[in-house]
Amino acid sequence: MNNNLGEKVSYIKGLAEGLGLHKEDTKEARILMNIIELLEDIVDAINELETSQAEQDDYLDALNEDLTDIQNDIYGEDEGEDMDEDAHYVEVVCPHCQETVYFEEEAFEEEDDLACPNCGKLIYQEEDDDEYDQDENEE
Ligand SMILES: [Zn+2]
Repeated sequence: MNNNLGEKVSYIKGLAEGLGLHKEDTKEARILMNIIELLEDIVDAINELETSQAEQDDYLDALNEDLTDIQNDIYGEDEGEDMDEDAHYVEVVCPHCQETVYFEEEAFEEEDDLACPNCGKLIYQEEDDDEYDQDENEE
């Protein structure tokens, strides 16, 4: 990937050597030669990073494939085909019109008042259960 960088540094180093630059010659030559050596170190470091990055990418790809297999095993491959893959939906049967409606999971968790998109009445989640419990205790 960084062949260009390596080639450019090698080219500059070749130029310096062609000019007969040596660290011992002058202060300027010493600085230039040190900079060239530093550039070589940087290119090496970048190459190492890219190698480990590529290894991590391969690892992540493999992990992602395994995860997809597992998800397919658990949920079945056909699940959610018609829906946005990034969003999770909660399936609710409206107590008013008995229509099965879908809410985005986030909206379902964050908002107290959710209106049925079919009949427009508010849907409450499992609040009725508490009332039943209280009635039973009073008896
Ligand atoms: Zn409804």
